[in-house]
Amino acid sequence: MLRACGAGVGPQLLRAALGLGAWPGPERAASGTRGQGWLQPAGHDTGVKVYNSLTRRKDPLIVGSADAASWYSCGPTVYDHAHLGHACSYVRFDIIRRILTRVFGCNIIMVMGITDVDDKIIKRAGEMNVSPASLANLYEENFKQDMAALKVLPPTVYLRVTENIPHIISFIEGIIANGHAYSTAQGNVYFDLRSRGDRYGKLVGAVPSPAAEPVDSDKRHPSDFALWKAAKPREVFWASPWGNGRPGWHIECSTISSLVFGSRLDIHSGGIDLAFPHHENEIAQCEAFHQCRQWGNYFLHSGHLHVKGKEEKMSKSLKNYITVKDFLKTFSPDVFRLFCMRSSYRSAVDYSDGTMLEAKHLLLAAAAFIEDARAYMKGQLVCGPVGEGLLWERLRHTREAVKAALADDFDTPAAVDAVMDLIHRGNGQLQARTKEPSGPRSPAVFGSIVSYIEHFFETVGISLADRQFVPGDGSQAALRSVVEELVRFRLKVRQFALASGKATGEAQRQQRLDRQPLLEACDALRQDLTAHGISIKDRSSTSTWELLGQDHRPGS
Ligand SMILES: [Zn+2]
Repeated sequence: MLRACGAGVGPQLLRAALGLGAWPGPERAASGTRGQGWLQPAGHDTGVKVYNSLTRRKDPLIVGSADAASWYSCGPTVYDHAHLGHACSYVRFDIIRRILTRVFGCNIIMVMGITDVDDKIIKRAGEMNVSPASLANLYEENFKQDMAALKVLPPTVYLRVTENIPHIISFIEGIIANGHAYSTAQGNVYFDLRSRGDRYGKLVGAVPSPAAEPVDSDKRHPSDFALWKAAKPREVFWASPWGNGRPGWHIECSTISSLVFGSRLDIHSGGIDLAFPHHENEIAQCEAFHQCRQWGNYFLHSGHLHVKGKEEKMSKSLKNYITVKDFLKTFSPDVFRLFCMRSSYRSAVDYSDGTMLEAKHLLLAAAAFIEDARAYMKGQLVCGPVGEGLLWERLRHTREAVKAALADDFDTPAAVDAVMDLIHRGNGQLQARTKEPSGPRSPAVFGSIVSYIEHFFETVGISLADRQFVPGDGSQAALRSVVEELVRFRLKVRQFALASGKATGEAQRQQRLDRQPLLEACDALRQDLTAHGISIKDRSSTSTWELLGQDHRPGS
């Protein structure tokens, strides 16, 4: 694991070594005073306004190119299982990434750094008597599995800290060469905060608190932060021009992002707890290395997941967390995704079983409407004349409302409300059922609404098709055939029980009485099958059925 590096490389050579060709230098115009000197980038206007932590307002999101929007996401520190608080941030940004890609046509290059060496990893590995590398490998794989289970798309590329030590060393050398960092006799390297002047603090406007500094600190100024930490006894280390040691935390993200994107980064994302000091320090490092006025153009921060009633964020240190794996034993990833969409990605959100159940019921309502609309299209559900013009108008209005909401800082709650309102109105039209199948029918408008709603949910990574029958393996197909037979048989029995035939008066009453047990048996079967995730619906002249999603079964 030990790696040496060449010392004494000048900044220009460094840029070449890091593969930092001249990233297209955009024309930049200074924005208003509220932006605190933020430079509006040149490039492709996505049509989205995004809340930018750098300016604390909504700015038009302009990326370098629609074909290659650059996005850096801070990744996990892999020393334990991911919990729902982490998951919430990654799912929220996954939804935003999908919206930017599929609604606004951006091709996104996403880079994520994996922190596979740090204090927590070293400590935990020591406790477990394994090497930090194998502990990190284990939890990195775990993290990737959890993200896949939550349907979070992987980044375009993951980059690990331990595989980029030579680049990190070169990056630190560049910052020293530019006069913004210094090494000490003890083998540490610190960023010289005062050398940044008033440019430090452009994101949060704060300076690291010197209160926690040990007395024997070798820093020039208490607020300076570490770029390279001299090795402590029995710790993993790498060779460097300053002696054996390992990188500080913040430097990894600056190096990894610059390695792929150079001196311009369109979007940087992370949880709000990372804004300070982590992102503030990333900015200081990158702008000192690249000697540019603005490295990252848009900083997006997600709010915390709170544990309801405690007003505290879900975190490992507070020991109030639910692991992703445990959560997924009770609820599906689709339910969690809809839960995430029902609040702004920026806001803190309360976790409770109640809020999760609300999301589940909305999904159920959407799936039930789609099933009814399909039954109507097939002629199985008969209802009175449909206000077709109204529905077409409503669909058009919903499309516009959803796109406008998403363009307004990814306002997913408003978009979900608009779609649920469309479902409500569609349902209203299907409720006016009549016994007589007569009058004009309007299958096209329902087909169009179903298609739109499914597309909406697919765009954000929620599959309503899971409630449809998509035969997977052979046993599933066989089960489907068996249920089909069973429902057909039940329909015959039920129709026989309900038929009056030629009997009248007392004979008819007696006949109904005689056949009542058959009806009761049909009802009992319908009821019992819901326990197995099968829902039968009796229509006017037929019965239809569907598989309930795993999380939609009673008692789950
Ligand atoms: Zn980071």
